[in-house]
Amino acid sequence: MRRKMKQIRAHRQFPVIAALLLAGLLCPALLGAVSKGGPAANKPFTLVLDAGHGGKDPGALGHGKGREKNINLAVALAVGRLITQNLKDVKVVYTRKTDVFVELDERAAIANRAKADLFVSIHTNALPGKKQLTGSETYTLGMHRAADNLAVAKRENSVISLEKDYQTRYEGFDPKSSESYIIFEFLQDKNMEKSVRLAQLVQKQFSAAGRPDKGVHQAGFLVLRATSMPSCLIELGYVTTASEERYLTSDRGVSQLADAIYKAIKKYKETCK
Ligand SMILES: [Zn+2]
Repeated sequence: MRRKMKQIRAHRQFPVIAALLLAGLLCPALLGAVSKGGPAANKPFTLVLDAGHGGKDPGALGHGKGREKNINLAVALAVGRLITQNLKDVKVVYTRKTDVFVELDERAAIANRAKADLFVSIHTNALPGKKQLTGSETYTLGMHRAADNLAVAKRENSVISLEKDYQTRYEGFDPKSSESYIIFEFLQDKNMEKSVRLAQLVQKQFSAAGRPDKGVHQAGFLVLRATSMPSCLIELGYVTTASEERYLTSDRGVSQLADAIYKAIKKYKETCK
C-alpha cells in the first residue's frame, strides 16, 4: 500500500519533472535558475572579496615594512567600501576583515556557502633574489601555459602547509610538486569564459590607472579550484621591488588599485550576467 502511494506520488510528479527538463533543454539558464534557487528571484549579486593570507601567514615580504597580508587586506576593504557605497544591489562578503589566518579551503567554502556570483582573491607578488619587476597581473584557474606560472601558484598554495591535516583535507595535494597541478586541467571549465573576461577587465582598469600591464594568466591556484563561481586571483604588484613596495603600502597606491578593481567588477556586472 505504502509502495503504491509512493508510485502514485512519483507518477504525479513526473509531468512536473518532465516539464522542468524540457524547459531546461530549451533554456539551460532556466534549469540553472530552478536548481540554484534562481537569479530570477531578485537575488542580490553576491561578491566575495578574499584578502589573501593573514594572521600567522604574512604572505610575501618586502624589504621594508611591506607585508603582503596587510596590503591585500587594505585593498580588499577599500574595494568593498566602493562597492557598498556605489552599487546598492551588490552584497559584499569578505573572507576576512581583520588580520586573521583563514585556511584556503575555508575561503572557498565561504564563497560557496554564500552562493556567490563572483570570487575575487587579492594578493601581492614577490620575486626571488635581486629580480626587479613592476606591474599588476591577474590569474584565472587553468593549466594553459601553466609552466610559466607554476612558481606563483606554488608560492600562493604553499600556505596550506601551515594548516592542520592539509594532506588529508586537500586529498594528498602537495603544493610543491609539479605533478599535483595536473589535476587542475579543465576543472571549472564552465566558469572559465567569465573568469577570463573579469581578469581582462581588471587588467584594463589597472592599465588605465597607469600600472604596467603584466597580463592575464592561468595557473593552478587551490583557492580558485574549490570555488564554484567565476573567479580570479589578482597580484597587485611586486612587494620585493622597492618602488612597488612604496606604492603598495601608500594610501595613493591602495586607493588607485581598489578603484581599478571596483571599476572592473562594475563593468563585469553590467556586461557579463
Ligand atoms: Zn599571496
